[in-house]
Amino acid sequence: MQRTALTARRRERELDELASEPVDLLVVGGGVTGAGVALDAAARGLSVALVEARDLAWGTSRWSSKLAHGGLRYLATGDVGVARESARERHVLMTRTAPHLVRALPQVLPLTQGVGPRQGLTAGIGFGLGDLLRRDAGTSSDVLPAPRLARPGEAARLVPAVAREHLHGAWVAHDGQLVDDARLVVALARTAAGRGARILTRVRATELHGDGATLQDTLTGAGLRVRARVVVNATGVWAGTVDPSVRLRPSRGTHVVVPAARLGDPAGALMVPVPGSASRFVFALPAQLGRVIIGLTDEEAPGPVPDVPVPTRPEIDFLLATVSRVLDRPLLPDDVVGAFAGLRPLVDSAGPGDGPGLGSSDVSRRHLVAVSSATGAVNVLGGKLTTYRTMAEDAVDLAVKHAGLTAGPCWTADLPLVGAPPRAVPPADALARAGARATQVAAPPLAPALVARYGAEAPDVLAAAALPGASDVVGQGIPGTGHLDVTRAEIEWAVTHEGALDADDVLDRRTRIGLVPADRAAVGDVVGELVEDALKRL
Ligand SMILES: Cc1cc2nc3c(=O)[nH]c(=O)nc-3n(C[C@H](O)[C@H](O)[C@H](O)COP(=O)(O)OP(=O)(O)OC[C@H]3O[C@@H](n4cnc5c(N)ncnc54)[C@H](O)[C@@H]3O)c2cc1C
Repeated sequence: MQRTALTARRRERELDELASEPVDLLVVGGGVTGAGVALDAAARGLSVALVEARDLAWGTSRWSSKLAHGGLRYLATGDVGVARESARERHVLMTRTAPHLVRALPQVLPLTQGVGPRQGLTAGIGFGLGDLLRRDAGTSSDVLPAPRLARPGEAARLVPAVAREHLHGAWVAHDGQLVDDARLVVALARTAAGRGARILTRVRATELHGDGATLQDTLTGAGLRVRARVVVNATGVWAGTVDPSVRLRPSRGTHVVVPAARLGDPAGALMVPVPGSASRFVFALPAQLGRVIIGLTDEEAPGPVPDVPVPTRPEIDFLLATVSRVLDRPLLPDDVVGAFAGLRPLVDSAGPGDGPGLGSSDVSRRHLVAVSSATGAVNVLGGKLTTYRTMAEDAVDLAVKHAGLTAGPCWTADLPLVGAPPRAVPPADALARAGARATQVAAPPLAPALVARYGAEAPDVLAAAALPGASDVVGQGIPGTGHLDVTRAEIEWAVTHEGALDADDVLDRRTRIGLVPADRAAVGDVVGELVEDALKRL
């Protein structure tokens, strides 16, 4: 059994161990931030446990736009430091830690009737500045091509649904795109587990103490008091439920999902300026499983934090109307096959009580790392997916200092995640080779999707499968599921290596089939049976 493999049995064993063995650092929350903290701390040689109330990537981390941003949007608000940090972290992801999970995405801003000349000009200047950030981060144009003006024909090839009438060209600029956000979280958690971190899902922290936490195993209801030299609270928008001093201003972001075929199977993202704004855009982003996701809104979301935020009708209408301004055929509500919303854990500027000299509440960086005066835990909140690594570094630095731990320096910028190609080989070559290995086992059309999701592990996913029909797709023989290229082997792998404990974990987080309710309904039973069989074999 690989050290990076997460399973129900491992969870059970490690949860038992946790009852009697104190750890150096306990992380609460299994989103990108918590998983990043667990990896950073384990890589520094600390003993680590991470507890997640539900499942890895249950929260905001699965509702993102799935972009590894170059920081352009932060330049628009004058946050040069955040912009540079974002571009640098994109570089780290694309060239060292996760080149298998992040690809260069062409973004197309059509210069057409619905886009004013000022908007086109401002966008061009912005792309130029974004390119300076790329160079500053050391990202070569082989990894991320420089922005350029394209002819109408090329724009239409990248985004075929764009209206050709009045189209006189387009800006094409590249940014990083994750194959999936929840997949990044799982890769982080598995890499941390490979370095000894205990990753425990379905374990809720009910109270944080200076020297540990009270936990509840939500599968059995059993309580547990765990001792830790320091606790890191990475519960995102739920932080206030374990720390009364935390003040967040959640803001809801909504996306809709449409079939990629409806927009002509675009290879690039369509960028449409919001009317009246030079810096806000709606994006139609090509995504895996034959989908395009269209976002994003930004709505204040006061009040109690829901388990799963729900998009509103006006938000959906706004997204469809904005993107339709540049399409040959407007999108209608009937074209929408799914919708999802996430809450940004924005830190209130009058944020939580940081102990004197122990933390920084630097709101301009949009993340907060501070020791809570209420719980004694280190809170790490805000930020974004792209910069999870620096958030984790800041949090572990502070945790080490606060608890007087002995630990080495952070080195996660040089630590490849599971599935990353070997360092000595240029990433593209290594991935192509992994694809070739996968192709020997799988039907050829499946290999690119497998490699995009699992990188160098793609052949292992197929080789590890014990159930019959490993390389068949889950929707085999089920009408209307031709766009779902998820293999039966991937369902099994989710249970035997990625810590999925039931069919929901697989449908909604390991594979993302569940983003479209009709897809979920179509293959839900098949996936359920495969999960049951795989669990029995553990
Ligand atoms: C709509 C939207 C789009 C975005 N798009 C992008 C993007 O394209 N690129 C980008 O870089 N960033 C993006 N972001 C920002 C990014 O998604 C978030 O900053 C990031 O995912 C937050 O991760 P987190 O781990 O802090 O929180 P979460 O992912 O919410 O994780 C917190 C976890 O804590 C768990 N938890 C809560 N309470 C407890 C408890 N008591 N005990 C144990 N566990 C608990 C929850 O179940 C949850 O899994 C976007 C955000 C939104 C809302």
